[in-house]
Amino acid sequence: RPLRFSPSAVLGSNCPRRASSTLQNLKNASVAHHKPQTQSQSHPQRDREQRRRYDHDVVPHLARQPLHPLSLADLVKHGRPPLSAEALLASARFTLSLLPIRLAHRIQALRNLPYIVVSNPNISKIYNNYQHSLSTLLPWQGRTISNLEDEIRFTEVLAELVQTHTDTIPILARGFLECRKYISPSEVTRFLDQHLRARIGTRLVAEQHIALHFSSTPHFDPAASPTPCPEHPSYIGVIDTALRPASTVDSCGGFVADICELNYGVRPQWVVDGEPDTTFAFVPMHLEYIVTELLKNAFRATVENGMSREPVVITIAPEPPAVKPPPYHHDHHHRHHDQNQHHDQDHVRLSPPHEDRGAFGRDAIAPLDDNAPGVTIRIRDRGGGISSDILPHIWSYSFTTFSESDDDVPGGSNSSSSSSSANSIFGGGANSYGDALNVISAASNGSSSIAGLGYGLPLSRAYAEYFGGGIAVQSLHGWGTDVYLRLKGVGKIE
Ligand code: ADP
Ligand code: MG
Repeated sequence: RPLRFSPSAVLGSNCPRRASSTLQNLKNASVAHHKPQTQSQSHPQRDREQRRRYDHDVVPHLARQPLHPLSLADLVKHGRPPLSAEALLASARFTLSLLPIRLAHRIQALRNLPYIVVSNPNISKIYNNYQHSLSTLLPWQGRTISNLEDEIRFTEVLAELVQTHTDTIPILARGFLECRKYISPSEVTRFLDQHLRARIGTRLVAEQHIALHFSSTPHFDPAASPTPCPEHPSYIGVIDTALRPASTVDSCGGFVADICELNYGVRPQWVVDGEPDTTFAFVPMHLEYIVTELLKNAFRATVENGMSREPVVITIAPEPPAVKPPPYHHDHHHRHHDQNQHHDQDHVRLSPPHEDRGAFGRDAIAPLDDNAPGVTIRIRDRGGGISSDILPHIWSYSFTTFSESDDDVPGGSNSSSSSSSANSIFGGGANSYGDALNVISAASNGSSSIAGLGYGLPLSRAYAEYFGGGIAVQSLHGWGTDVYLRLKGVGKIE
């Protein structure tokens, strides 16, 4: 049976060896132990009855249960080396205790969208993905994962789950774009903000167990590698306790420069200054996502502004452990503090509990240590800045000034970042939707695009806020843009 997930989906891109070994493990496991979970032999009546029970009983029941307040302590407590078989089983059981409830909450939220929206083929694909993932986990409920054979099969289910939901974002983007007549922009934003933040947490929980599974010795395939990932001794699951942001900037910079070369035939330069040797404890996959999106924006603006000879400057500044974390400001008007929604939010375990964490209070994960050293990364480009008519929209999902016609006009007169021809589902003209849909098609066909979904900034901010950080954009119109990415470290782990 061919595996349906790719190495990067299992563990992210920055440790190919871990990923491929995990795959090998899972492949061996799946050959040896796979048992089909559902019979496809038709018993139409019984199937219908099961389906009805599932729709009407199981999902609402699970969705009524409160979300477990996630804390980093939970994520790392099973993972401290040396990882015993018992700890691995405990991690699997913990993961299983969280995921069905989290998925059911998402299913319920999708069901609460207007019917015509859920009926859209793209939105219903996402809905079906969630239903499918929940149904693969349900057979595991009510039994204990008590031996390593179970654990292997459970991890395979998790890996499939992570893979199933990999392409969610362009599909949702397309779906909501197609449904723009039936749902208001503020409803879309509220839904997406909650949905995508919850998705970060759910994937983190699943990926953490997959990573721990890999780093455990019991399943380690000595033929594939004699020791678990010797190049990355600083990892605990998906957390790198000594992540060096300068390295992330360089590898993501190379990737984004490749995309620019494809799109514009120009390869922007970048330099890293400040204190490039800074390290802190963070989730590399999250940092990679954010940095890639911010560099795409900076490189695109630089090229379209005809300033490719000026490097984008990335300054890395460690944030020393603070007695009291300095207040961090960003625009509050965008955030939603919908009191009625809080039962469907990720809870936060704050320490101390009364501390005002401002805009990123909910739906974030509590750091292990509030005084953990963090890092601030400033990305400075000479891309011409952002005009005041565009600035208020940049945090809205789907807002973009990108259109395909920009592709071949580096620095050209119709560079849209300096015009007011913003395309957005929240205010663009009829033609701009067509452009956005084309860009999304390109994105979902796997070709890398430099921009166009309009999800880069809002989603990057969701990732940054997940661990109590933030993003602020400072534009000097006519000159360039500074983006401040402030990340709190996840704290001392040992
Ligand atoms: P996308 O890149 O897909 O358009 P984003 O959310 O990443 O979506 O950005 C939204 C918009 O913000 C961009 O279309 C662009 O107009 C503006 N923007 C973001 N970063 C910059 C920048 N560094 N320089 C100029 N404009 C920017
Ligand atoms: Mg972008």
